[in-house]
Amino acid sequence: MEKDIQYIINELGEERSAYNGAVSPPLMASTNYCFTTVAGLREAIAHEMDVPFYTRGHNPTVAILRKKIAALEGAEECLMFSSGSAAVSAAVMNCVAQGEHVVCVQKPYSWTAKLLNQLLAKYGVTTTYVDGTNPENYRAAIQANTKLFILESPNSMTFELQDIAAVCAIAKAHNIRTVMDNSYATPLNQNPIAMGVDIVAHSATKYLNGHSDVVAGVVCSTAEICKSIFANEYMTLGATQSAHDAWLILRGLRTLPLRIERSAKTTPQVVQFLEQHPKVEKVYYPFSPSHPQYDLAQKQMKRPGGMFSVCLKAQNIAEMEVFCNHLQRFLMATSWGGYESLIYPICVLHTAGNYASTTLPWNMIRVYIGLEDAEVLIADLSQALSHING
Ligand SMILES: *Cc1c(COP(=O)(O)O)cnc(C)c1O
Repeated sequence: MEKDIQYIINELGEERSAYNGAVSPPLMASTNYCFTTVAGLREAIAHEMDVPFYTRGHNPTVAILRKKIAALEGAEECLMFSSGSAAVSAAVMNCVAQGEHVVCVQKPYSWTAKLLNQLLAKYGVTTTYVDGTNPENYRAAIQANTKLFILESPNSMTFELQDIAAVCAIAKAHNIRTVMDNSYATPLNQNPIAMGVDIVAHSATKYLNGHSDVVAGVVCSTAEICKSIFANEYMTLGATQSAHDAWLILRGLRTLPLRIERSAKTTPQVVQFLEQHPKVEKVYYPFSPSHPQYDLAQKQMKRPGGMFSVCLKAQNIAEMEVFCNHLQRFLMATSWGGYESLIYPICVLHTAGNYASTTLPWNMIRVYIGLEDAEVLIADLSQALSHING
């Protein structure tokens, strides 16, 4: 683990002498902060993003977390949100106005697509989705009113990479901003800002908190862009983070490097088992040597991540259900990033009302590898596979 990461996680932003030498950061739940002079109050209002005044804008516990995550991302500034979707929405909405155009990687996180297709479409913002595996597809989609490129590398469910530096170079040449969702990799495995991205967003619900007990989001960018997001989307929409949630994420962050290293070690072992199994059709994992973007993964990511998709040679949805129902170690649930390994069968999207439209294959399962031993997980997958004909 890099030395400065240890410093950031254990020291940065923590003024222990100011709170009795507490080893664990304090939880300051107060929504409101008081002043002894009018001048002091006036000064606080003028710097609402940076000093305690009212917790929708600034909270001392959240501020410790903001400093740490900004430093991990190599960003000047960070804002914490009450969900990853709120963070992505605020970042995107800051970049576009009525009648402007966005180019987005195909098959992004589902609620990012909903933001673009429904919410922003109401305000006349249009979106073109491109196959991001070739950066030239971003260039080809540029219109006179294009203001934003959205990246998500790897993207949700199919784990396709974008060449981040190449896409950002095209954006810069056309004066277009870039927003990237970096939830999958975390700042420990990928640093988009160093590759030219303007705004990085995360679902902190996943790896950053890491314990399946907080929903939260992150935006990292320059001080100037964060100031603009703060004064507009952040304060107006008010999807602010609670001090309690920030406190839990500070605790989760302490073990982030250990958790990331563990996943990076066990996940390729599980992938390797599945790739050679006769009942497996295909594994979508950029850190597999058989993946067409393996070289790019090695170039722009520091370690393998803990999530992939797998398509089984099942006869029908009923057989997919037999496989899923037989797993004993994997929990069947959405989200990811905690201790426990999870599966999410795509066939539910083919049959469940609210999420009904999907182009993903019914025989696909998204798999998240938690912190259990690889042997235990492989044995579980092996016995569940023995129940399908393939
Ligand atoms: C979960 C997720 C989100 C949304 O985050 P929430 O915290 O659930 O709002 C956004 N992007 C990606 C890649 C995710 O996995």
